[in-house]
Amino acid sequence: NNMLVWFRSDLRTKDNPALAYALQKAQQQHESNPGSRKALVIALFVLSPSEFRSHDVGAVKVDFILRNLATLSETLWKSHRIPLIVKNSPSAADVIKDMHQLCSAYSVSDLFANQEYEIDESRRDAKLLKSLPNDHVEFHLLQDQCVVPPGVLKSKSSNSTYTVYSPFKRMWFDVVKKSKDKYLTLADSLSDFPAPVNSVADLESLSITHPDPIPDVLKGFELEVEKKRHLEETWPAGEVIALQNLDKFCSGKRESSGVTVYNDARNYPRLENGTSRLSPYLAVGALTTKQCIVKAMEANGGKLDTGSSGIVTWIQELIWRDFYRNVLVGFPRVCMGKPFKLETMNIQWLFEDDVFQSWCYGKTGYPIVDAGMRQLQKTGWMHNRVRMIVASFLTKHLLHNWQHGEKFFANSLIDGDFASNNGGWQWVASTGTDAQPYFRIFNPYTQSEKFDPDGIYIKRWVPELAGLKTSAAIHNPHSVLSAKELIKLGYREKPIVDHKVARERAIAAFKLVLGKG
Ligand code: FAD
Repeated sequence: NNMLVWFRSDLRTKDNPALAYALQKAQQQHESNPGSRKALVIALFVLSPSEFRSHDVGAVKVDFILRNLATLSETLWKSHRIPLIVKNSPSAADVIKDMHQLCSAYSVSDLFANQEYEIDESRRDAKLLKSLPNDHVEFHLLQDQCVVPPGVLKSKSSNSTYTVYSPFKRMWFDVVKKSKDKYLTLADSLSDFPAPVNSVADLESLSITHPDPIPDVLKGFELEVEKKRHLEETWPAGEVIALQNLDKFCSGKRESSGVTVYNDARNYPRLENGTSRLSPYLAVGALTTKQCIVKAMEANGGKLDTGSSGIVTWIQELIWRDFYRNVLVGFPRVCMGKPFKLETMNIQWLFEDDVFQSWCYGKTGYPIVDAGMRQLQKTGWMHNRVRMIVASFLTKHLLHNWQHGEKFFANSLIDGDFASNNGGWQWVASTGTDAQPYFRIFNPYTQSEKFDPDGIYIKRWVPELAGLKTSAAIHNPHSVLSAKELIKLGYREKPIVDHKVARERAIAAFKLVLGKG
């Protein structure tokens, strides 16, 4: 009667309810029947390249998953002797079959996992939940991704899923403040349980002598050596590093940055540490939203929505994670390729492959857009302010369907996360939960002047423009330099679209569908 813990987007041992409950159950069973053999706790990860492909998980994130898996495996095994089994499953259909086989091979009585809210994952779990009792296996699904699980907060007026962030956030603060113990208590850690958890002899009786090796690279998801090295340096794997980075950010140990100055710094992409850069760790579950909020509150004298304004703003950003997951569960159509606002399906999007490629590779002639897309290409990450600018540019200026951008981001980002990516794209494209009317269109020139005033970010990622001196030239080179001069610099001689013309075209296309706005 062994316990199997299925790790998915939760590659950590701390604040991991599925792992904690499996350990507790093994312990309780043993205490209530001390003469019996102690149940083994076995960890599992299902590696499925075809699943990665069908969900647009790109090489950069796959590399980060593999690196985090390796550290997780080491942590589980080192003192606690919990082996991580890596099962290769070609497709989602195989996963169900494989789970039955594994449960039988390892005499599993209880399967534990933390819930994933995307539609394919929910359906897979529902199918498994229905079928496992036939094998006398109990499937325990725990909650770890949100502080307040999806579906709990309902709009007061209509008792339905919140469709706008601000009222959701207000209700979130009310509820969490009232029930801090319920929502902000972290799950037990591995170190709360005696080591080793498993007896090596008992493991050997199941032919388990060590954890399975984790591949360095997955076929079809290879990275250039230089890029892989950069990723390893910038985003070292593992929950220990994630927690250290969280601690540094919250305790203000980072130079002239950190959570207390978040309000001043967060919108300036040139500031490397203006934001926490914790998103990759949150995306693979090396860290939880709850751990971040608990740490931020510690730095704020225990307060949640008062005190340091930087800390409160940062907590509000983390609440977006809960909000978008709430939307996903309340409106599953957003997981099925449909917009949140159904009427926007009628927008007459354009598509021109060369235009799209120019956007993808930072060749639009709009310096701030090009800088953002090149940062993404080179590093697998992009600053939030610039994500909004490039997303607005693709959907409004170029009038390309947000779904192309969403897919490209998912494939390129190290922090790719369906709910936040889909939510972010739809918010910007006016097909989602943004309460602002569609005719609010980001002006890439003024955004650039405001948020990269000295052009430091632009010059870093668009070296063709590094020698330009005046503000006008940096933010809008075509307004100052001749086509000949631009060609000499190696930059686009004309912007891909004229700002004014593109803006009017977008407003007309949206107005046809959304009316007055
Ligand atoms: P911080 O500013 O330090 O914020 C802390 C954490 O709060 C972030 O790590 C993130 O988990 C969360 N957060 C902050 N802002 C948002 C937001 N607007 N929506 C949801 N969560 C937020 N974030 C992802 O994690 N994965 C994505 O795939 C993703 N795609 C996006 C696509 C678009 C078009 C846009 C506009 C935003 C997207 N975001 C996404 C949200 C945001 O850009 C990133 O979370 C943020 O840039 C990560 O940097 P950070 O960790 O330094 O954030």
